[in-house]
Order: sequence, then structure tokens, then C-alpha cells
Amino acid sequence: MAKSVVWFKKDLRIHDNAALAKAAEAGAVCCIYIVEPSIWQGPDASKQHYDFILESLRDLYVALKKLGATLHVLTGEACDVLERLHAHTPFDAIYSHQETGNYASFMRDLAVKGWCKNKNIAWHEPIQSGVFRGRLDRDDWQRLWTQHTSQSQTPTPERLVSFQPLVEQVKPPTAEQLAIDLLDPPSRQRGGRSQAMYVLDDFINNRSESYRGGISSPLSAPTACSRISPYLTHGCVSVREVYQRVMYAIADETQEDSRRAKGLRSMVSRLYWHCHFIQKLECEPELEFQNMHRGYDGLRENDWNAKHFDALSEGRTGWPIVDACVAMLKHTGWINFRMRAMLVSTAAYPLWLHWKPVGNWLARHFLDYEPGIHWSQMQMQSGTTGINIPRIYNPIKQAQDHDPRGVFVRKWLPELRQVPDPWVFEPWKIPDDLIRTVSKVSPPKINAPIVDLEMSTRAAKQKLFERRGRPEVSAEKSAVLNKHGSRKRPVLRNKPKSGTAPPVSPQHTLDF
Ligand SMILES: Cc1cc2nc3c(=O)[nH]c(=O)nc-3n(C[C@H](O)[C@H](O)[C@H](O)COP(=O)(O)OP(=O)(O)OC[C@H]3O[C@@H](n4cnc5c(N)ncnc54)[C@H](O)[C@@H]3O)c2cc1C
Repeated sequence: MAKSVVWFKKDLRIHDNAALAKAAEAGAVCCIYIVEPSIWQGPDASKQHYDFILESLRDLYVALKKLGATLHVLTGEACDVLERLHAHTPFDAIYSHQETGNYASFMRDLAVKGWCKNKNIAWHEPIQSGVFRGRLDRDDWQRLWTQHTSQSQTPTPERLVSFQPLVEQVKPPTAEQLAIDLLDPPSRQRGGRSQAMYVLDDFINNRSESYRGGISSPLSAPTACSRISPYLTHGCVSVREVYQRVMYAIADETQEDSRRAKGLRSMVSRLYWHCHFIQKLECEPELEFQNMHRGYDGLRENDWNAKHFDALSEGRTGWPIVDACVAMLKHTGWINFRMRAMLVSTAAYPLWLHWKPVGNWLARHFLDYEPGIHWSQMQMQSGTTGINIPRIYNPIKQAQDHDPRGVFVRKWLPELRQVPDPWVFEPWKIPDDLIRTVSKVSPPKINAPIVDLEMSTRAAKQKLFERRGRPEVSAEKSAVLNKHGSRKRPVLRNKPKSGTAPPVSPQHTLDF
């Protein structure tokens, strides 16, 4: 009987798992997860990601046990672990889903490919979402995406025949032992398939009617958004399963114009964007550290300002909504799309910080860190894609629009609780005599903004638009557009029929 290793990577589930199903069809399986120290020591990893994965592995262990197999968590560099495993327990093939991860995992995959070739071991890598490898015609991408997400989910094997690896089994190391960045937001979402199902059901049944209209404000977004992102990132649930569950709920909805139906339709369109962005990194892994449009090289790289970065990352820029978002992120590991975009825009324009170090800092803070979405969005919000109209968010206007009574900023910045409404978004403007009146005990500690917002934004715009205007930069734009641009279809307003593409909203209307 053929022996295969099933290597779980960013697919910590047995449901809709093509790698597991194909390996089971081929013969006996040995299920493994590899804790790779070099990947965990990267600048984009943190303890919250690791702990979330360990929680997810517990659910996966239980699920595999019920099928008659064990999950073996092995530690070491992937090629060394496979070599050890193979030396003690020879196997014929490896099955794992295609992974579009960070550059370190891309290089690791190349090394594993070489190792398999040397050992004459077949490595089967089925796709796990609407992201495709190899030469890709972007014009055809939407059709392929729809085909994949509308196909039946892969059935879970009823029973697994397993073989035991004859290698020493030790407990997975702790984050401290791995020397991972120890960031650990106390109120982050917990990992695992059961949590993923709870969050998805709760969204579909109870929260989706608040989606439209609720996702832009940092006050309503934590409950209005689906909150499925970390479970998609680590594969506790597949994009296809989420897509189909939501599409069924839409089809079941009797009133197609109900708030719930509209919310579900809007949410499902984001699953398309999920894969669209990851596809960019799949086609060009260098996007993690290189400007998408090379004409923007040198724009910010030599202007690094450590004081600005420290103020941003310590939540003391002086702009209340920015600092409140940083406080929330440190506490929960999540903020909504609009606030992420505003944070990056503030970093990129008034603070004039290059997207790479800011992106690493945010990657550690986002529990749902998904390199494909993250790096493309970092570049988009920083104006280095060359194909998107730069959106520069004014943090004071954002606060007025999305937190009009100052509830959010007062929640996360206790020092602003005593500041009256008129000054809550610009507390440095509060008159001195009023400070003494409102705070009888001690005056609130108010940071003045680290830079003058208007002047610094104007200077940033000038530098950016000077670059955009250069003939060689605008000439290169169509090549970038051709490679990475969306071939979006118009927004669908009506009830989707089963098997049709979801409603797709253009990227600039991703929040309402
Ligand atoms: C600078 C920046 C960095 C980001 N980094 C990440 C990241 O590392 N991982 C990540 O999953 N999302 C990222 N996003 C996109 C978005 O903010 C999150 O997907 C969303 O906030 C997750 O919450 P949710 O699951 O409740 O989203 P929902 O609004 O409920 O959306 C459902 C799903 O659709 C996908 N999605 C939603 N918005 C987008 C988008 N704009 N682009 C691509 N896919 C989207 C996600 O998979 C999300 O889970 C980033 C956005 C910005 C501006």
C-alpha cells in the first residue's frame, strides 16, 4: 500500500481538504504539521499567530482521531524534518495544499521541491482557494475563481488508514522557546475549526443585517463584520465553504432587498477580493519587499524617520482616532478595513514612512495576517502600486465621520474621557483655562500631533504627484495594470442564482 505524508500548512481542517482526500485515496497516511523556527523568527510573525495555530491544531487533532489518524506536530526546518521522517519511515509521496505565503515560505517550498526531486518523492499540491499557479491570464481569472468556488466541496474521508512516523515525538516548543515576537493581544479571537463555525453561523444568522452601514465605523465594525478572517488565513475553513454557506443563506432569504440579504451579498463579494489580492503575490512574490510599480523606488526608502514610527507604533501620534486604533489593535489583534487603510495612509503620507517596516509591524499585530492581501494593501494604501488612485485619509475627518460622539476614542484613550466633545478629535486645541476647569484632579495628558497634518500631507502629496507625473512612471502603469489590475464586473444588485459569480464591488467601494 502506498504511504503518503499529509503536510498540513495553512489548511488546518479536515473539511473540504483536497490534500487529505487525495492522500487517503492513494493509501496510508501520516498527518504532520511542521513548526519551522526560521519562519517563526521572521519579522512578520508573533506569538498570537503561533498560539492561534496551536489552538487550531488541537481541533484538527481531535477531528483526525475520529477518522482513525493522529496529527504529529514536528519541529525543525521542513527539509530536515522530512529527511528525518523519511529515513525512519520511508514514504512515497507528500500531499499539501498550494501555499501563497511569505517569501520565507516560498523559498522553503522551493527547497522542499528540490528535496522531493532528489529523493524521487512525488509532491502533490492541489489548490485550496481561487488562487492559481503558473502562467495566468488575468482576463480569465474571474471565470476560474467562480468555477472553483462553485464546485462541490471535497468530501471528507470516512476513515483513514494511517502509519506512524518512527521519529521522536516531543511537545511543540513554546513561543518563548522559538524566540517569536511575544505580542499577545489579550482579547484576540481563539483558533480552531469549532470557533470558525461559531463565528460564521453567528454572522450569517445574527449579525449580517448590520454589515452594510456597520463595517466602516470602528465602533460597530467588531460585530457588523463577519470576523472570519483569521480562520480563512489559517485554513480552519475554506474560502469555498464560506462562500457556499453564505450563498445558500442568500438563496434562503425570502426578501432579496432585506438588510440581511444585502449584508450577505456584500460580504461574499469580499471573498473574491480575498483571492484577487493573494493572486497578486502568487504571480509576483517580490511584492512583499519591492514596489509593485518600480517607478516609485526611492520615493520613501531613504527618508526613514524612527521618531515618527515610534510615535505611530506606541499610539502617540496625537491624532486620537489613530492612537485609539493602535490601542484596539494591541488589545484585540483586529481592526476593520477602513481603519487599517487610515492607519497606513497616516503612516505613508503625513508621517512619510515606507510601507515595509510599517507592514511588518502591522503583520505582527493582525491576527489574520495574510501576506497576499496584506502586502498588496500596504502598497495600495501607500501609493506605490501606480494603478490605484491614491486615497489619503484625514484622521480628523475620519473620526468625525465614523465616531461622531467620540465614543471610540474615549473607550481606548482614557485620557480623553474628560475632554468635551468640541475638542475630542483635536484635544491639543483645548484652551488652557478649560483644561483646568474640566480636570479637577490632574490635567489630562494630551499629546500634540507629532507633525502638522496639513503641511506634512501637502508635502507628501507633492512628492507623490511629482513621481506620478514623470513620463517613464506613467508609461510603466499599463504593464502593472495588465499584470495585477482587477477585471471587475459591475456590481450585481439582484439575488444571485446558484453557481453564478458573486456580486463584485469595485475596490474603492469596499466599505460603505
Ligand atoms: C493595510 C491593510 C492590510 C490588510 N491586511 C489583511 C490581512 O493581512 N489579512 C486579511 O485577511 N485582510 C487584510 N486586510 C483586509 C481587511 O481589512 C480584512 O480582511 C478585514 O478587516 C477582516 O475582517 P472580516 O473577516 O470581519 O472582514 P469581512 O468584511 O467580513 O470580509 C470577509 C472576508 O473577505 C476578505 N476581505 C475583506 N476585505 C478585503 C479586502 N479589502 N481585500 C481582500 N480581502 C478582503 C477577508 O478574507 C475577510 O475575512 C487588510 C486591509 C488593509 C487596508
